[in-house]
Amino acid sequence: MALSRFGCPDRWMWHFTKNGLFTVKSGYRVAVELDSNGLLGRRGFGGTSDDRGGRRLWKSIWELNVVGKIRHFVWRCCKDYIAVRSNLRRRGVQVDPACPSCQQHEETVAHLLFHCHYARLFWFACPLQLDVRSLQGGTFADIWLGLCDRFAQDSGRDGLLSSIAYGLWRLWKCRNTLVFEGTTVHPAEAVELMHKQQNEFLQTKEQGTETPSSHEVGGVQRSMGTQHWSCPPMAFTKSAVFDVGEGHCL
Ligand SMILES: [Zn+2]
Repeated sequence: MALSRFGCPDRWMWHFTKNGLFTVKSGYRVAVELDSNGLLGRRGFGGTSDDRGGRRLWKSIWELNVVGKIRHFVWRCCKDYIAVRSNLRRRGVQVDPACPSCQQHEETVAHLLFHCHYARLFWFACPLQLDVRSLQGGTFADIWLGLCDRFAQDSGRDGLLSSIAYGLWRLWKCRNTLVFEGTTVHPAEAVELMHKQQNEFLQTKEQGTETPSSHEVGGVQRSMGTQHWSCPPMAFTKSAVFDVGEGHCL
């Protein structure tokens, strides 16, 4: 690199943007690419470890019109960084791996959010009337990409996926209510709560009064135009399952 002829002081530059300034978008893209290549210490995303799959996941999550914590949640689902019981067992936590809702299957992310009887009722009760039996793929990431493909030609694609993201978050919250409070939220009520949360976000966004606190999840908050997202720090992403107790969502 050529030295400055004007004696400028040294300063930090971000290598991955033309102007040398860090943006959340560029940082996240780099993290996804490193991860897809196995350079973050893990293989890529479930059964879709190729770079193209990683890019598609990144793009689909980035484009969601949702509050930052839910975007972050979907990303962690794709990475299998959710403290469901199968993951806790894999990390050496002594816990019954059975799904707390149906007690019939191992609680994986895909089971909790799509395949469980409770999830099926929830998705079918949604206006989307998503029949999860038609979903392809064994991992959450596979299923998510399948949904992206299914709605690829739909003009309302982004809205549909965003609604699904709110549904995923609500299922996780209901699961935690069951585990920690012993209360089952009726699927119809869960759908209502999902809509309420999504509508509040859209109204707040329309009014331009989205609060910073709604985005401060697990990392440094930075802004990028009108979009905000907390960049998940690497240490956090690698140890999320270790650091949290069962069901806690950071
Ligand atoms: Zn279940």
